[in-house]
Amino acid sequence: MHTSPDCPDCGKDNTWSDGTLFSCPDCGHEWAPGDAAAGGGPVVRDCNGNPLEQGDSVVVIKDLKVRGSSVPLKQGTMIRNIRLVADDPEHIEGHSDRIRDLVLKTCFLRKA
Ligand SMILES: [Zn+2]
Repeated sequence: MHTSPDCPDCGKDNTWSDGTLFSCPDCGHEWAPGDAAAGGGPVVRDCNGNPLEQGDSVVVIKDLKVRGSSVPLKQGTMIRNIRLVADDPEHIEGHSDRIRDLVLKTCFLRKA
């Protein structure tokens, strides 16, 4: 049974798993199950490329304007218990202490 995903780097399907990591013998790329190619869905990443998951806490890395609010979201604001947006790895939803129902771009967030 061929269960290994195609290599996310070179796209070849000679990949194999040692139980922890997938490896591609063609280009030498190794990656963990749960990354985009293995998990079956897009992986949400913060500004540093760290994967974000439902319920994580993130910190805003720059002042952001919030649509519908006169109060900007300040750099350093902690967003707790984030929700991932289905089929949209570039945004997450969450609440700050002052503003509810935020939709934030993940490139302006850092995992707390
Ligand atoms: Zn490869």
